[in-house]
Amino acid sequence: MSHQFIIIGTGFAAIIAAIELKRKGWHDFVMLERRNFAGGTWQQNRYPGAAVDVHSPLYSLSGKPYPWTQMFAKQSELAQYTQALLDEHDLSSHIQLKANVKNAQWDEQNHLWQVEIEDGEFIQGQFLLNCTGALSTPVIPEFEGLASLKVPYFHTNQWPDNIDLRGKRVAIIGSGASATQVIPAIQPEVEHLHVFQRTPHWVIPRSDIKFPKWFQSCLRIAPVYNAIRWSLYWYNEIRFLGFKHIPFLLKLLGEWPAKRLLRKHIQDPDLRAKLTPDFTIGCKRIILSNTLYPALASENVTLHDKHDGVRVFYESGIETELGERLEFDAVVFATGFNAADGLVSYDIVGRNDVRLTQVWNDYAHAYLGTMVPQFPNLFIFNGPNTGIGHTSALFILESQIQYVSQAIESVLSQQKSSIEVTTEAETLYNQMLDKAMQQTVWSWGGCKSWYQNAHGKVVALLPTFTFIFRRWCKAFKPEHHHYH
Ligand SMILES: Cc1cc2nc3c(=O)[nH]c(=O)nc-3n(C[C@H](O)[C@H](O)[C@H](O)COP(=O)(O)OP(=O)(O)OC[C@H]3O[C@@H](n4cnc5c(N)ncnc54)[C@H](O)[C@@H]3O)c2cc1C
Repeated sequence: MSHQFIIIGTGFAAIIAAIELKRKGWHDFVMLERRNFAGGTWQQNRYPGAAVDVHSPLYSLSGKPYPWTQMFAKQSELAQYTQALLDEHDLSSHIQLKANVKNAQWDEQNHLWQVEIEDGEFIQGQFLLNCTGALSTPVIPEFEGLASLKVPYFHTNQWPDNIDLRGKRVAIIGSGASATQVIPAIQPEVEHLHVFQRTPHWVIPRSDIKFPKWFQSCLRIAPVYNAIRWSLYWYNEIRFLGFKHIPFLLKLLGEWPAKRLLRKHIQDPDLRAKLTPDFTIGCKRIILSNTLYPALASENVTLHDKHDGVRVFYESGIETELGERLEFDAVVFATGFNAADGLVSYDIVGRNDVRLTQVWNDYAHAYLGTMVPQFPNLFIFNGPNTGIGHTSALFILESQIQYVSQAIESVLSQQKSSIEVTTEAETLYNQMLDKAMQQTVWSWGGCKSWYQNAHGKVVALLPTFTFIFRRWCKAFKPEHHHYH
């Protein structure tokens, strides 16, 4: 099979890419999806309490109003929104489900990508758009004895449809963003919940509101929607000043409200100490929650910190570092994703048989987080240093597509067959990012986070304002590229 464009993935990145291809009149594309349903993050993460932590009118595609029912949409509404986009843009006919891409190889002779799917099928394409998501492949760390555990256990990303935790003894491993949503959602119904926390996170209040019907109607009006969207954009963007330029803002808008929230809900001094982080706020993703602390303070919850963590799993439960043997009916792993070292979920081989994993051996890097020298016509969405801790990931994806679209246009309009970023341009870009990164709290904040790779280098986040990234993406520079 052959298509001009191959998109891998069907989440927001893939949807944004596909909409742009159609807008440009490039209709010959396929979207490959490893799961048996399309839509990515919000179709997949169906754990109790799952919701976005960026304001919904901002966490949505630009240019098209949507009548959100609340400020921070829940998973079900986000899944509906994703499906509505797939339907509206008639993308289903382009999607091939259960197509798990195993590898992609650049064919230097024919200037094409050869993509191999798990079932052995090969698909050829001139342009390869990788939209596989940085937070798509869940990780369960290696724990001693885990293989012997006989009670149901699962990652938050693979929450079973039929699991009933009412009246059950449950363990949750992890205390990051997903855990902090699951804990308050299941605490009222379980018999007892044991939370195993490696590090406490900073938690600030979440100003969620349900939108009344009249407001939802207003959201359908484009100028109103856009005005709300842009107010939210700037409200969030100003917070970036704290991450890099004015650390005092982190104290004012982050640390002080977080400490007030902790004091308000946690009376027990031991529990409060366990929940107080020892790193600068912002170094790890800041949690937004009004319900986490009340849940953790409940009688049916026990918090285990790192001194009292998991030593070993056995058939029916966990033995802790303090030697306590605890029996469970279910174990939930809220242990996150391999965002820094596992950015691309399959093997990519470029010119001269160079593997992307080789090029990224020390750390992942790319020009505008999108193009890598020696990998012609390959565009990586959500690539290295495109993540953000303070605003909507969709803003970044919509920036990347502006670069990608112009790059493709430049190939086609010159009747060339391929485009590749130059090594010089890519190196200079990354040197600039490195310098900027040193000033951010993610580098100096004294924490270990999923923003860093195994060597401690921050490869997940963008160390500048998102409007600057948008400007870079818009200003396409042909001189930074080779054509063939
Ligand atoms: C629980 C959770 C909460 C989040 N909350 C926020 C938030 O509040 N704000 C925010 O801005 N961002 C948030 N994110 C990040 C979120 O992932 C992005 O906002 C956005 O949805 C990414 O879209 P994507 O298309 O790049 O990736 P995804 O939505 O992950 O889609 C990737 C798709 O590619 C498919 N795929 C992967 N590998 C292969 C392969 N080898 N072959 C075929 N198909 C493949 C996957 O199955 C998936 O469908 C959250 C992520 C998670 C997991």
